[in-house]
Amino acid sequence: MRVEPIAFRYLFALTLFASALPFALQAQTQSDRPQARSDRAVTVAAKTLFGAAEIGSKHAAESFGGYAKGCLAGGAALPETGPTWQAMRLSRNRNWGQPITIDYLQDLSSKVSQNTSWSGLYIGDISQPRGGPMLSGHASHQIGLDADIWLRPKTDRILTRPEREEISSISMRRASGAYTNDRWTKDHETVLKLAASDPRVARIFIFPGAKVAMCKSARGDRSWLRKIRPWYGHHYHFHVRLRCPEGQENCIAQAPPPLGDGCKEAVGLVNRILTPPHRTRMLSRANLSRRSPWPNCPNNAARFYQTSEGPLYGNHLQYILWARIRARQN
Ligand SMILES: [Zn+2]
Repeated sequence: MRVEPIAFRYLFALTLFASALPFALQAQTQSDRPQARSDRAVTVAAKTLFGAAEIGSKHAAESFGGYAKGCLAGGAALPETGPTWQAMRLSRNRNWGQPITIDYLQDLSSKVSQNTSWSGLYIGDISQPRGGPMLSGHASHQIGLDADIWLRPKTDRILTRPEREEISSISMRRASGAYTNDRWTKDHETVLKLAASDPRVARIFIFPGAKVAMCKSARGDRSWLRKIRPWYGHHYHFHVRLRCPEGQENCIAQAPPPLGDGCKEAVGLVNRILTPPHRTRMLSRANLSRRSPWPNCPNNAARFYQTSEGPLYGNHLQYILWARIRARQN
């Protein structure tokens, strides 16, 4: 049990929220202001609101919106320490997810302890208690279906809370991610194979050099490689993304990965790392997105403010701000 003064944290969150208010109101009254300013205000407001949640809501578990723009009802916490896992960076309070995600992580860590030299897994960020955007870090991890798993092999020792803040994972990459380094082992491949072979998984992100290494060494059934998607970063941890759970119609799924093992595509990416194209066309900010930065959560007050189970997001003041900002955005 943590003894953190909740009231203090709440007050802090409210202060942050209030500091976003002038931006929001200004944006509301002066519609000729650059859209960027109002977007920024909405982004800060959303991050602050969701970042202030201490615990999951008392609803049935449900994901709303997409992995990078949504929120989570009925979030469950991954216990900080289990027989085959330890949650890391506890101060972030991001060890929350859909119950299916928590089950998956526990199952996977158990399989890893049985099939590799690792004693299980160190689990990084999952989601905030009610999902949504975060003040620092990820664009995704917003609906309780994404989880970061460290590439540092777990040992038997139970780490203290301070250790879980200080200890870092280990990078597995060489040459900017074109290759794995000498820390990468066959056990890493086994962990990735176990992780990807679970039918609950939609895709897994890891740096291109790791995908190519596994493409070269995988024997037998190679179908799991399809779900391993090469992505920038992801050399200290890999990122597991689960499918939308059955029957959750408000959860926006991603198109499945293209057919095949994706190995040729990964080699292409590695080649781009080794020989970057002359000019990379930069996406101009204007092209990036004209959509509202507010997460895709229903704006239905009955459901999202005060339900019989209690408020899902924030308090009355926050709801009013939220509604005003939304009105401005729509
Ligand atoms: Zn991630």
